[in-house]
Amino acid sequence: MAVIIDGKQVAQKTREQLKKDVEQLKKEGIIPKLTVIMVGDNPASKVYVKQKSKACNDVGVEYEEYFLDTNTTQEELLALIDKLNNDKSVNGILLQSPLPAHLDISEAFRRIDYRKDVDGFHPMNVGKLVLGQDTFISCTPFGIMRLFEEYKIDLCGKNVVIIGRSNIVGKPLVQCCLNNNATVTICHSKTKDVKEAAKNADVVVAAIGKAKFVKADMIKEGAIVIDVGINRLDTGKLVGDVDFDAVLQKASYITPVPGGVGPMTVAMLMNNVVKAAKQQNK
Ligand code: NAP
Repeated sequence: MAVIIDGKQVAQKTREQLKKDVEQLKKEGIIPKLTVIMVGDNPASKVYVKQKSKACNDVGVEYEEYFLDTNTTQEELLALIDKLNNDKSVNGILLQSPLPAHLDISEAFRRIDYRKDVDGFHPMNVGKLVLGQDTFISCTPFGIMRLFEEYKIDLCGKNVVIIGRSNIVGKPLVQCCLNNNATVTICHSKTKDVKEAAKNADVVVAAIGKAKFVKADMIKEGAIVIDVGINRLDTGKLVGDVDFDAVLQKASYITPVPGGVGPMTVAMLMNNVVKAAKQQNK
């Protein structure tokens, strides 16, 4: 039976370390600050924003939010980003997605000063990740890498199969794994045979958004299984993209949902804010 990777505990440990870093920064007169911009009235976004504000509070990071009206124009959004880019007290800027359909999110992400892009979505930071340079890494893949580190899972030479190619999870995770000397395959909705690819993998990462997509017959004995998915069943229960109970019997390590990758995402956001504050005050 697999070891269940405890994301909650690793996230807590990460936050404890960050608290110490923040205390030290405060002694030097530096108060790390995150500003979150949300446009419109998306209930899921509100939940995520609340989690981020709580995490800031916990770690000692100053938190500020702008809730903009659904009818906000692109020009108004860009003007706010410009204002925050120029505000020396703001170290990190996070634009909560999704945006209302009339707004151009790519342009807005590009407008954020890449040195304050704590989500790691700016093309400059994505490019630096591809080149293997120090950068802000998208928080979910970064959290997964932190879990590998904590559980002493060395990716060197391992076959990693990532299912899902989104810009925020699958694609940056490819680079993270590659930078750690893994051999990486990425699958998506047009992949001919996902099962065949996954069955040969030492590590399978599921980031699809389909409940229980990864079944026990899709993985090899002793595989490491990372479940990024968050799906709510009709019963209200939260489940991942992996058929947890069955895969647990066959894998060597597995992340649960909830309590696996999820808590790491917010912890790594805090990590990026503290890093931004340090870099901007060097
Ligand atoms: P996304 O943007 O919707 O991307 C889903 C990916 O899955 C796409 O690349 C899609 O392929 C692929 N896919 C869909 N059906 C497939 C199939 N039948 N076979 C193979 N690939 C398939 O999703 P996301 O933002 O990456 O999120 C994925 C999941 O992770 C969601 O449940 C989300 O809620 C969760 N999530 C969790 C966290 C966390 O902190 N734990 C953070 C982010 C996301 P195409 O590209 O071909 O369409």
